Amino acid sequence: MNWVAWDKTIGPVEYGGLGFGSLRDANLAMLAKWWWRFKTEKNGLWRRIVWAVHHRSREWNDIPVKVSLPGPWKSIHSVRQSLLYANIDLHQDFSAVVCGGNNVFFWLDKWLDQLPLYVKFPALFKEESEKQCMVADRCVRGSPGLILSWAWSRPVLGSEAADQLQLLLVMLEGWASSVGSDIWKWRHEKDGKFSVSSVKKLLSSVNRVRPEQIFEWNNWVPKKIGIVAWRAEMERLPTKWALARRNIPVQNQFCVFCGDYEETCDHVFVSCHFAQTIWQNLAAWCMIPPIIAFGINDLLTLHVSSSASRKKRKVIHALVLVTFWSIWKSRNEVVFRQLIPNTTRNLDEIKSMTFLWVKSRSKVASLSWEEWSHFNLSTLI
Ligand SMILES: [Zn+2]
Repeated sequence: MNWVAWDKTIGPVEYGGLGFGSLRDANLAMLAKWWWRFKTEKNGLWRRIVWAVHHRSREWNDIPVKVSLPGPWKSIHSVRQSLLYANIDLHQDFSAVVCGGNNVFFWLDKWLDQLPLYVKFPALFKEESEKQCMVADRCVRGSPGLILSWAWSRPVLGSEAADQLQLLLVMLEGWASSVGSDIWKWRHEKDGKFSVSSVKKLLSSVNRVRPEQIFEWNNWVPKKIGIVAWRAEMERLPTKWALARRNIPVQNQFCVFCGDYEETCDHVFVSCHFAQTIWQNLAAWCMIPPIIAFGINDLLTLHVSSSASRKKRKVIHALVLVTFWSIWKSRNEVVFRQLIPNTTRNLDEIKSMTFLWVKSRSKVASLSWEEWSHFNLSTLI
């Protein structure tokens, strides 16, 4: 039974999710990559084939498609529409920084202006005799100034085209090229590098609100251990109280440890004397002040306020997560296997399991059980 909304589960960690990402987002991002490749891999054979099949000589487009032709390129092309809601426009978001000018189309690519020149100067583009020319074919940096070489389809330009040429010349004057290779930029990353994960990140953050408190994961314990605390913090574990709220019949709603209070996450992990006994014993063992917690969040942020070293704080955080897992496991053993709860058993389990995980995952192989049992973490620090 899934008690956490799927949308929340797939959300990014910084928005309180598990960071799985949705399959749909992954697929869209993979398709978007083909736009990037179409722009940057000018000499690819596949690109030339797509161009030959989809380009119409009467209708210029920097990414051509014949919608009447079914097939993968059509779905790649239509991905643009699906990404607009995330403020991604594949027609707009790639641009070139021209250096040598050998990998950027003069007219068809976006480099000098917010628009490709074939869109900005349509009358002039009409007069171009070689519409797929590179920037380097039309202008190279000389010393001083630019060396321009045009190839118009007729000796005298029409008046509209001539006006546009004047504007283009002004723009070219202000253009500063440099030596080296052309660089393609993706608008959404500071370094301009396009990646599938960049698109996925943009898609997964749409319409999500950052929660005030971001759940902190800890890679020294397995993810499934942290998930108990992550769900508890959102009151999303199937406690008797939660079951009753969802109209699932339960015999009673009392806590299985004390029998006195309603079984909510807050009670089971924080205020129940069973949990309290474990927390106080743990605090004594870690040599930290007695734990005073009014809610689950106080436990999850316990390590933050500690004055211990960074690694020791991470160990304390790991212990807290393992304790959540251990308490919930005992709760289920009482419910489903009628075991008698015993805080000593939990404490032994918390110490030994955390030792194994921290030892293997923190890459501190020298940590011995002897040191650990006295909470002597000098090898960690
Ligand atoms: Zn209780």
